[in-house]
Amino acid sequence: MLIVRAVEDIPTHNIRKGDEFRLYIVDAHHHMGKEGSHRNTPAGAYDFYAQLWFEIQKQTKQMLDDDALLFEPVNVVGPDLPSRCFRTRDSWNRLDHGWLVDRTVVFPYTDDYSVSENRNEASFKVSNDKIAGWTTRAPHSTRLIGFARVDPMDESVKENLAVDELERSILELGLRGLKLHPLAQLFVESIEGEQTRSVVTRAGELGIPVIFDTRNISTVLRIRNLVDSIRNDPECGTAIRGLRVILAHCGMSPGDSRLYDVLRDPAIFIETSTLHDLDVPVLFESAKDRLGRVGAYWSEKILFGTDFSFLSIQAVDIVMYLLSREFSGTLGDMQRILGGNALSLIQRPYSTANKPQINPQDYITIDRTGSGQLRLEDSLLSLISKNEWDLCSLDFMLPPNKTWPEPRPISSGGFNGIYLDSYVLTLRKKSNGKELHVWIRRGPDQSLHCSLLSTVGMSKLDTMENASQKINPILQQFLKDHQVILPSVDAMAEMVIHQIK
Ligand SMILES: [Zn+2]
Repeated sequence: MLIVRAVEDIPTHNIRKGDEFRLYIVDAHHHMGKEGSHRNTPAGAYDFYAQLWFEIQKQTKQMLDDDALLFEPVNVVGPDLPSRCFRTRDSWNRLDHGWLVDRTVVFPYTDDYSVSENRNEASFKVSNDKIAGWTTRAPHSTRLIGFARVDPMDESVKENLAVDELERSILELGLRGLKLHPLAQLFVESIEGEQTRSVVTRAGELGIPVIFDTRNISTVLRIRNLVDSIRNDPECGTAIRGLRVILAHCGMSPGDSRLYDVLRDPAIFIETSTLHDLDVPVLFESAKDRLGRVGAYWSEKILFGTDFSFLSIQAVDIVMYLLSREFSGTLGDMQRILGGNALSLIQRPYSTANKPQINPQDYITIDRTGSGQLRLEDSLLSLISKNEWDLCSLDFMLPPNKTWPEPRPISSGGFNGIYLDSYVLTLRKKSNGKELHVWIRRGPDQSLHCSLLSTVGMSKLDTMENASQKINPILQQFLKDHQVILPSVDAMAEMVIHQIK
């Protein structure tokens, strides 16, 4: 998380000079694997973020001298639980850095192994396996979110070849979104064609976001037509309800009014990588002027991304602009752009299909100081470090859609919209693949709740939105009927560990 400090009083927002805030940052565009001279792994990502922080510090000095900053970046700290996970093993401990960015959306390059020699095997099969290997195991699973990549043109080789690979990636590997690259996979002319449409429709049905590479406004318009055609097809009702499309690189057209017309579509968003220098003010000023509050609020439409390793430190231009006097949005706008929007679009906790269901359990106790929760977390982390269980993901609870708050100063708790004390751990037993959600959250009156839930079936948790009315009624009823009140957090930890084993 990036710690920033107000350089003066901002009375309109009740901010005082010296107030410090925590910003939780998500990189929504990041490649791993290898393509020609490009190579990247989790360690490479964290080193890159350390380098970005170094560059931010350098530019901060200059901008403070020019009195250009409204918020001064002063420090970087890791979120407590992910950082503690890294410290449970010596070999992981040395990767506990680069916390400028807290969560990274990772997808393959057009890898050296993306095209199979066997014509009947889907492109990117090996690449998707590798992304899952990196992103769904401790400790990286606390920081990385894997997206699949497919080539829609595989559909012309064999019907459902690309769609099946997408399903395998999401339902078996546990990847959580899809990257499509019309230029690299040579389907710019076929974006509105049947092959791409089948893949994007299936992504909508699976409820996962799709990020498209876009290099110009005509690609953007084609994608808008594709979304429209899915919306207008009565057979695609489920798909359009789940469909969210992110235009990477903002179509490289931040000054084109047609980009903002497209963004009025409730299913379409943009991501900032490649924008630098003067593009940056053009993007944010145009978005604010042209979108305003039509449909979604303008700052809910923009996601921060780096496109590492194709691009490197130019992502700093976005961060510094947001902190500068030039940016006319609020800290809340900043937090949505830098991380909230990406997490809200991903929305659901990690899960894979076809796992045996477990008998759900629900425990509640009082934890006045929060120290009991730390002990419960330590017991769970020790399960992982003992190698019996793997941690597939750590997903924090989020504000319900369209309710993202203004961040609070650290002196008043520092809440920035990410519920760092309320989250879902997805555990997978190494010996038999059993999978479960451990859902820990703070309740009213210093209560601490811990539920053990199936990752499949009717009583699973299917949103990270922290509001009881967002929880499906079957799960709500279950929690009501099966609650066990325990005398202490230690009793809770013992019970939870006993049940898990
Ligand atoms: Zn890229």
